[in-house]
Amino acid sequence: MTTIERNLQQVRERLRQACAQAGRDVNGVALLAVSKTFDADAVCLALDAGQHAFGENYVQEGTEKIEALRSLRPDAALQWHCIGPLQSNKTRPVAERFDWVQSVDRLKIAQRLSEQRPAGLPDLQVCLQVNVDAGVNKSGVAPEALAELALAVAKLPSLKLRGLMCIPEPAPDFATQRDLFLRAKVLFDQLNAQGLALDTLSMGMSDDLEAAVAAGSTLVRVGRGVFGSRPAKVTSGV
Ligand SMILES: *Cc1c(COP(=O)(O)O)cnc(C)c1O
Repeated sequence: MTTIERNLQQVRERLRQACAQAGRDVNGVALLAVSKTFDADAVCLALDAGQHAFGENYVQEGTEKIEALRSLRPDAALQWHCIGPLQSNKTRPVAERFDWVQSVDRLKIAQRLSEQRPAGLPDLQVCLQVNVDAGVNKSGVAPEALAELALAVAKLPSLKLRGLMCIPEPAPDFATQRDLFLRAKVLFDQLNAQGLALDTLSMGMSDDLEAAVAAGSTLVRVGRGVFGSRPAKVTSGV
């Protein structure tokens, strides 16, 4: 068994236990394997272990990996999610190659993705990233501005608004972390009460997926838990 296969089994077991603890059906929580910084071979290993949905943060790296997988595994049904902050001049390759974008946080980005989505491809599946804990340096729409953005994005052609994504700051304990995730769950329920048919609440990562599942997550995004630790972030440019 490969390390990635064993890691995937462990993450699925954590999800199973978290769902049992929360009284939820494990089929109600999907797993996105976040493959940023890992190469196409690592994605192949995860694919061989039954994982089909992958998340990428960086447009260039992600599009290259998507192309690599197309030639390595032309018959595989892969689903690619863009989960990193998006600049408006980088939307085109995302609209052309990804299946999902979870990090939409302003209308201009959504409009560009809508215009640039090639005819003939299925609608681009979209989540709005919401900044639930008002982290000053973080992307994400403020909760007060969310409903207006959601209603506008839901009207755009070639996009399908599926739900919300959030990345709260790490909290010191389970209850505090769960309460941060619950803020997103409240917003999600409010939007559905306003008539939007959202089905995706993307929250929870390697260190906090149990708290996210307890708060109603339907999609956890796990990187290190699946692929192992990432190299330290390079902060200086080249
Ligand atoms: C890197 C990343 C993840 C995965 O984080 P891990 O801690 O490795 O599980 C999930 N979501 C986003 C938006 C990320 O950037």
